[in-house]
Amino acid sequence: MLKKICTLSFFLSLCLTTMTAQDYSKFNLLPQPAELTRGNANSRFEFTPQTTIIYTFGENDFKPATNAIQEIAVNIFGTKIKCATKVNGDNNIIFKKNDSLAEEEYTLEITPENIIINSKGSAGAFYAIQTLKQIIPVQAYETPIDLKKLSLPIIKITDKPHFAYRGFMLDCSRHFWSVETIKEVLDIMAMHKMNRFHWHLTEDQGWRIEIKKYPLLTQIGSLREQTTTGKNVGMDGIPYGGYYTQKDIKEIVKYAQERCITIIPEIEIPGHSLGALSAYPWLGCRGEEGNYKTWSNWGVAPEIACAGKESTFEFWEDVLSEVANLFPGEYIHIGGDEAPRDEWKICPHCQQRIKDNGLKNEAELQSYVTNRIEKFLHKKGKKIIGWDEILEGGVSQSATIMSWRGAEGGITAAKKGNYAIMTPSGHCYFDYYQTTGRDDEHLSIGGYVPLRKAYELNPYDQLSPEEQKFILGVQCNLWTEYIPTKMQLQYKLLPRLGAIAEIGWCNPAPETKDVEGFIGRSKELSRYYYAFGWNCAKHFYEDDVQIGW
Ligand SMILES: [Zn+2]
Repeated sequence: MLKKICTLSFFLSLCLTTMTAQDYSKFNLLPQPAELTRGNANSRFEFTPQTTIIYTFGENDFKPATNAIQEIAVNIFGTKIKCATKVNGDNNIIFKKNDSLAEEEYTLEITPENIIINSKGSAGAFYAIQTLKQIIPVQAYETPIDLKKLSLPIIKITDKPHFAYRGFMLDCSRHFWSVETIKEVLDIMAMHKMNRFHWHLTEDQGWRIEIKKYPLLTQIGSLREQTTTGKNVGMDGIPYGGYYTQKDIKEIVKYAQERCITIIPEIEIPGHSLGALSAYPWLGCRGEEGNYKTWSNWGVAPEIACAGKESTFEFWEDVLSEVANLFPGEYIHIGGDEAPRDEWKICPHCQQRIKDNGLKNEAELQSYVTNRIEKFLHKKGKKIIGWDEILEGGVSQSATIMSWRGAEGGITAAKKGNYAIMTPSGHCYFDYYQTTGRDDEHLSIGGYVPLRKAYELNPYDQLSPEEQKFILGVQCNLWTEYIPTKMQLQYKLLPRLGAIAEIGWCNPAPETKDVEGFIGRSKELSRYYYAFGWNCAKHFYEDDVQIGW
């Protein structure tokens, strides 16, 4: 829900009932559209509460877009606008279906008479409205709801994304985020035309998704006794927990679909599993003797699920069956990162599996797990994504690699013909600091990724044109060990999310980038963030420049 924040008197003075020409002196669209042509500067389209939405084809094709317009209309006029299937005079927003365009491509034409949007279907039309949302001056969102008319410039935009995958990952295990907070994250993503939400749902520190067949996963595995303070220096003594019911999940999946976002759920296999092991100790190599407890510390717990016992595979298959039914997207992320294989070395079940299958070592045992889970998910019509560690013992040609320990995993994958998503920590880990010690940036895990560094990501680095075809896209990640509140979450996210969104949408070749232009647009966009009630870091890079209010 968009909130009105008119805290700054400067903006209050701009709260006009009709926007004037000087408000349109420049555009600050982010991501930047592929082509933008300005029309007659003396002419305007008047957007009013009487403007009518026209869809000449099926209403459902344009539902996300029409919902997005209605949200804007309510925000600036205080009322929804009419919808119709036939044009009757001027002053319309007309959706036209154009099958010659790509899935996410659109044209947006603002003429003195009408706004005309061409797209193949939902996504393109939705992105046209996200662009329109930024063409509308920020003051319109900050004014009290009494705007009667909004003059828009004459303009034509032709636009489409460079990458099909433009993602953001949120860790909901170290800290748990409410359904409302997740929806706000999806709103933030949608505004930046990002289309994949990677939802990290299981961890050592808590299992967060209801699985009907295994109720203890949430009754026990979602709870931890307490949480470490600082960098594992003490304990807060406060029990912590939370999980999403399957009803919550369906609600969020629907909310995401309405914003043209596909959710990729992540179920960690075989490491990062103490939440599950605390609920069902037989999953671990040490079984009932394991004394497993959902972890209160940060880091990588040494415990791991047993890859020797068939019962573990039955569990994974049951869990993934429910997950596959809940999430309509083609991908399920199966983790695979930071799996400590030491317990496998001394587990008779795991060693037997290695022997029976002629495997060389524990790394190959992890590959056995990955390949077997992948085959199972293929039968369910799903593909897998794994963190780059799944390359270590060999991986099937159909697995997609998420490159996080630098770009090397993605480069290796692309060179051997596996699809890859680039999310190297040095550019894409937003739990890293973005300032050099400002008070409003709380204790973080470490690292340093200021806005410029995020924007410097080159997902094609070291790849030939042929290999570049295997880069599906880019993603930024937010691990939440040191992020306990929504305000800090959004602070870490914004404005850096805009950098990865732009790399994903625009041609990411270094020679095509305009860093200063990007920073300037990012600053302008931060005014919208505040207007929508989102927190945002109040500086942009190492020299600590304040946003020029
Ligand atoms: Zn074992």
